[in-house]
Amino acid sequence: MSTTTSAATSAVEALRLASKRAQKYATAVRSRRVAPSGAEIQALSRLHESFPEGPCDPREVITLLDEIGSPAAVASTGGRYFGFVIGGVLPAAAGASWLASVWDQNVSLRAMSPIAAELEDVLQPWICEALRLPEGSEIGLVTCATAANFTSMIAARHAVLARAGWNVEENGLFGAPPISVVVGAEVHASMLKALTMAGFGKKRLQIVDADSQGRLMAHKLPKLSPNTIVCIQAGNVNSGSFDPATEVCARAKDAGAWVHVDGAFGLWAAASPKYRHLLQGFEQADSWATDAHKWPNVNYDCGIVAVRDAHALRAAMTMSAAYLQAGARREPMYQTPDASRRARGVELWAALKSLGRSGLAELIDRTCRHAQQFASELRRAGFAVLNDVVINQVLVSFGSSEVTREVIRRIQEEGTCWCGGTVWQGKTAMRISVSSWATTEADVEQSLAAMIRIANDCRKAIA
Ligand SMILES: *Cc1c(COP(=O)(O)O)cnc(C)c1O
Repeated sequence: MSTTTSAATSAVEALRLASKRAQKYATAVRSRRVAPSGAEIQALSRLHESFPEGPCDPREVITLLDEIGSPAAVASTGGRYFGFVIGGVLPAAAGASWLASVWDQNVSLRAMSPIAAELEDVLQPWICEALRLPEGSEIGLVTCATAANFTSMIAARHAVLARAGWNVEENGLFGAPPISVVVGAEVHASMLKALTMAGFGKKRLQIVDADSQGRLMAHKLPKLSPNTIVCIQAGNVNSGSFDPATEVCARAKDAGAWVHVDGAFGLWAAASPKYRHLLQGFEQADSWATDAHKWPNVNYDCGIVAVRDAHALRAAMTMSAAYLQAGARREPMYQTPDASRRARGVELWAALKSLGRSGLAELIDRTCRHAQQFASELRRAGFAVLNDVVINQVLVSFGSSEVTREVIRRIQEEGTCWCGGTVWQGKTAMRISVSSWATTEADVEQSLAAMIRIANDCRKAIA
């Protein structure tokens, strides 16, 4: 009894302390510098010690983590982080995540966690509706879009080879009928990784030219067959552009080919009546990969795979053992490569429940509006915006590659905001991705002022 009491007391004390410190972080993150300073990164060396000989009080562990770790965390939840495509975390998702951590559920089988399995049941139609996917498409909750792309390719491999009379789960890939894979020239690196992990070597790919916005050109598609997998994207990671899904899917349907969509963030534009038209045709595909930790602002990690043919996903992801007894209802582990995993549906459900349809649409519209403001103010200040700003992504050049690289370096160092660099169609550019619910108009103005001041200084200094 006393052990139970002290264990409970100690858990509660650890939670209370973590809560207090996390609240302090969440308040300060709005006003602090975005990238940690050099000194704060240096201080991480304090963590290096030999493996401790004995135990340490949980409160001391949390205090140390907060004192050293919090200042060295990147303030991506604060509203002025525009690097990569990184969302913040919605309040309901952050709170749900604490509860989920205390629950510590394993969501492999429904018997292990009725609540986690039930939330996935609830989410399936919500996701299909939000992303405008065919009703009844099966979903799996994975770590990220790379894992979702990978899972989709395993399901596609199953279906395409089954049509050719080959059972890939029984016979493997060696000696199987050949599959050809078609991608656009602007395919995301994660899709290539997914394809290589799934057994499709890079030399197997047929690469279709892309246009000035990075869109695969449908009239350049090669001949498709039932043994083809075509990978298109909704939301180019640089420009935000969308491949011409209607044309691609029509061609693929005629040929009996499988179409996969990498829509890591762009797919969420479907949730907004204002931007939905960009997703025209994507609902005709066979599989989709997206992230909830990007635009919908669910905390890490949360990727989603969706497959029209639920059987293809399940056939590719099922494992069986005498002790893993499946019930009559959907079992989460039969839709993902993982068996044991955290109940990431908890935060996804909390985020979507707290937003609702209108809140999600408003989040998409607001972030796109901020991106438009970045583009127009930077143009007005005399800098070149390199892409058509169709959603939340802006590519800006501050002059020569040298100047642009230096501006990016100084912006990151100065700390008001954070943006990364890229090379877009041969030109060095800074990428601005507005993906966080926390970004306000004041954040945009403050960031613009810093960017323009730094860029003008740099132009003078280097030119
Ligand atoms: C971000 C992104 C990915 C990879 O996402 P992860 O969650 O990091 O695996 C894949 N494709 C596109 C288009 C992306 O924007």
